[in-house]
Amino acid sequence: MKFTLLFASAAVVLATSAQAGGPPTEWAYEGPKDARHWGQLDPLFKTCSAGKRQSPINLDVSEVEKGGLKPIPFSYKAGPADVLNNGHTLQINVANSGTARFDGLEYRLVNVHFHTPSEEKINSMLSHMSAHFFHRAGDLKLAVVAVTFKLGKENAALKPMFDNMPDKEGKKFALASFNPADILPADPTYFFYMGSLTEPPCTEDVKWYVMKTPLEISFAQLDAFKKLFRMNARYTQAINGRRIQMMVPDGEGGPASSPAGAGGKASGH
Ligand SMILES: [Zn+2]
Repeated sequence: MKFTLLFASAAVVLATSAQAGGPPTEWAYEGPKDARHWGQLDPLFKTCSAGKRQSPINLDVSEVEKGGLKPIPFSYKAGPADVLNNGHTLQINVANSGTARFDGLEYRLVNVHFHTPSEEKINSMLSHMSAHFFHRAGDLKLAVVAVTFKLGKENAALKPMFDNMPDKEGKKFALASFNPADILPADPTYFFYMGSLTEPPCTEDVKWYVMKTPLEISFAQLDAFKKLFRMNARYTQAINGRRIQMMVPDGEGGPASSPAGAGGKASGH
């Protein structure tokens, strides 16, 4: 039954694309096809305007629910990659760079791509850039890890991609080895909420894990990216009462942060 439904919906998508008789509908970050208009550009994009659980959002540390989550078990590893200019961003496509477990299920890392400014806000502040680690489990389960970047030292792990960015849409180059773990912060603290893709078709039911601690990039690295992608971030979306949780490492606060031995209720270990 489930498979029948899957095939049926796939057929509908194909039929719509075929009827359109051309390439996928164009969208942009600026101008008449910008994020405020995505929902009207194509019936397939209607979730961009009609969706109630969209991304990105602002994450306010004082308002989120703390505790009860564990650090993400990342199992990333070095592997070959393609660094692609897809017209909207610089995207590192990986084939064999490992997995991460979300909610007990293993997701495969598919690509890492970048936005400037960061799409997510933390305490109402944008960062200069963010990286999105895009994962899939099967065809339908999606999870994204976001890492933000502030200006500072040159980021050595980004150097091979950022020194050599393909300057035209569709251009790419091969990287012999890229380890996504090299662009994860040491601090495991993250926010979790249910959201969407941040570009058309804005599909919902995407698990979002936003790392709280930023990494650094140099001004020159940011400038090189902005020369190709001046602004490629969607604006923050309404939260609509969604639950937002924050993973706080043991001993760093959260609801069970009363002094040890004070007889407080057991922490959720
Ligand atoms: Zn993204």
